[in-house]
Amino acid sequence: MSERDVVVIGAGLSGLSAGIYARLNGYPCLILEQNSGPGGVAASWRRGEYLLDGGIHFLSGHRPEDATSVVFREMGVDLEGRVAEMNVYGRFLDENNGRRVDVTRDLDRLARDLKGYAGEDLETIDLFFRGVRRFRGLDAGTIGLSRAPEQTTPLVKMRELWAVRRAWASFSGVYRRSMSDFARACRDPWLRRFLTGLFLPDVPVWFVSFLLALHADGGLGYLKHGSLDFVMSLEKRFRDLGGEVAYNAPVETVLVEGGRAAGVRLGDGSLHRSGAVISAADGRETLFRMLGGRYLDKAAVGRYTGWKLVPSNLTVSFGLRREFPNEVPLTTISLMHPISLNGVKIEDLLLRIFNYSSAFAPKGRSVLQVWVEADFDFWQSLREEDPSRYAAEKRRAADEILKRLEKHYPGIGGQVEVGDVATPATFRRYTRNQRGAAMAWMPTPRFFRTSLRRTLKGLSHFFMAGQWVSGAGVIPCLYSGRQAAALLCRSDKKPFRV
Ligand SMILES: Cc1cc2nc3c(=O)[nH]c(=O)nc-3n(C[C@H](O)[C@H](O)[C@H](O)COP(=O)(O)OP(=O)(O)OC[C@H]3O[C@@H](n4cnc5c(N)ncnc54)[C@H](O)[C@@H]3O)c2cc1C
Repeated sequence: MSERDVVVIGAGLSGLSAGIYARLNGYPCLILEQNSGPGGVAASWRRGEYLLDGGIHFLSGHRPEDATSVVFREMGVDLEGRVAEMNVYGRFLDENNGRRVDVTRDLDRLARDLKGYAGEDLETIDLFFRGVRRFRGLDAGTIGLSRAPEQTTPLVKMRELWAVRRAWASFSGVYRRSMSDFARACRDPWLRRFLTGLFLPDVPVWFVSFLLALHADGGLGYLKHGSLDFVMSLEKRFRDLGGEVAYNAPVETVLVEGGRAAGVRLGDGSLHRSGAVISAADGRETLFRMLGGRYLDKAAVGRYTGWKLVPSNLTVSFGLRREFPNEVPLTTISLMHPISLNGVKIEDLLLRIFNYSSAFAPKGRSVLQVWVEADFDFWQSLREEDPSRYAAEKRRAADEILKRLEKHYPGIGGQVEVGDVATPATFRRYTRNQRGAAMAWMPTPRFFRTSLRRTLKGLSHFFMAGQWVSGAGVIPCLYSGRQAAALLCRSDKKPFRV
């Protein structure tokens, strides 16, 4: 048994951020992580000569001129030499009609390309791009991040909104709807599919508009050395500040004494007593299991029973004896003949090609990864009940996908040196995230309208951080750790230092 001031549950981006900010404020701090290493869903791993990355695709808000980059400076995380420029957001290829569009940083070109293919939808295209253009040159990344809902004030909110007044019209009317709803107005089914495929179909139009404008302004980049390198820089910073991390340390229970969080009990029964607890783990795991469902209000129950999750997927990575000099790092292929995999009809393959840095493969070789939809229940029960069939189904999925890639990259089947399949059950095992949902809640219009509190009524010195309260994304998660530490300081009536 040991006594420390703060215990943080989870060494994902949010837990590491909470730990760094706790240390910056002088709290002795221990991070407990159930896994054997840090990162959570921001994971990359080695297979022979290849570095496979199953996490962060792009970084935003990191440039020195971005308001949100303050979080990197405060945390002491050096991004110098770690970020590669992103020139093409994505390529969209449709096998059914041969249409091909590259989303470059030139929005006029993109609008022209879309109009060239979908002449009946000129108005919808113009409406969409009007929304995007209002975000150009606007630093809207910090809205709602600087303070937790518990600490924000009407004045702070007004200031944040005033700073983006030029884009107000892009936050209202049709732009508040989801992309799939907005795209219903398209007469051309291809355009409908293109628009909903720009990001998740349930996100509001303003979100995609903001993202495309940010891309056009050069605000997106790739992590040159993969997710884990970035995570390790956070972990190192935490340790340099005197923080401690324990791995293979699953928290089972949050201890409560007299209405105050008093530490945690681990799976092996050991206790870590502390003056405060920050959970940066899965929200359901935290509220229902570690706290036994005792601090749930109606809104939280509604959320955990009714809200949509970003579905978990099948992540199939190949280490290949070939290069892809003319490919872009993200391509969506709409298949002429959908694949049927374990009851899921797959119409699109989402390809990541890691050709923007030499860190992922030696010369003459490359890593290509495919994300497809998958059924959590199928993979989870197979993994538990029939491990050899689980392994066989993973191989079958990889083979099916390879067959479809052959049309675009002839000979690819014979160039595979390494194959790796992560299923929804892998994500679940690796993070304990409910239903393997690696990106937490679906960022629907309703999600953005709801502010999720980081504290629980009736329980002091307990705080939540992470994507289940902040929403997924590197920047929101790093800020969520900052907010949790700020709330901790407030509880202790200490000024929050950065
Ligand atoms: C495939 C993918 C691509 C992405 N791409 C991007 C992108 O391009 N840009 C972007 O900004 N964001 C992206 N994201 C989102 C971003 O990476 C995540 O939102 C963020 O990493 C989540 O961090 P977290 O710390 O909140 O949660 P997690 O990473 O889930 O960390 C939670 C940690 O808690 C641990 N834990 C759980 N239960 C316990 C327990 N009982 N005891 C101890 N430890 C526990 C878990 O093992 C895990 O390490 C992507 C995410 C994924 C999955």
